[in-house]
Amino acid sequence: MKFSCPSCAQSTRAVKAVTLRTLLSSAAMPSAGNFEGFRFCPTASCEIVYFRPEDGQRFASDSVTVPVFQKSDRAKRLVCYCFDHSVDEINKEVEREGTSSVIESITQKCRNGEDRCEETNPQGSCCLGNVRAVVKAAQEKLGTQASPNKEEASCCCGGNSIGDE
Ligand SMILES: [Zn+2]
Repeated sequence: MKFSCPSCAQSTRAVKAVTLRTLLSSAAMPSAGNFEGFRFCPTASCEIVYFRPEDGQRFASDSVTVPVFQKSDRAKRLVCYCFDHSVDEINKEVEREGTSSVIESITQKCRNGEDRCEETNPQGSCCLGNVRAVVKAAQEKLGTQASPNKEEASCCCGGNSIGDE
């Protein structure tokens, strides 16, 4: 069963209650204090961050206590919320080095179990796909190619990839 966003009609991802409980502002309490059953909309141009198909409740960016990576174009915004890596930092590293050590660094920390994606990242899951996209975009801007033999593992965390249901 697919749940498309009521605002942009694009596909959305299930998020756990803990993500909303941690990241929603206190003024944005869901009805009856029930944080279950929400979906995350990743569309950049869409103002909806979370919505609940069951009762139509929705929350926009101003209800979330951190800038949402997908919905902001500020360079200083975080892309990795667990270890505080910003888009700006990655861009500058790629400009300097031609590549970024951030992906490896995050992967290592996730392997050590230090990540808390469900509580820190508004999308409620691992940031690595987004980090890879930022690195790739920065390299393309520079005119360097991402090395083609790099493995494209989508998520380092295993077990908690939350997709369409
Ligand atoms: Zn949307």
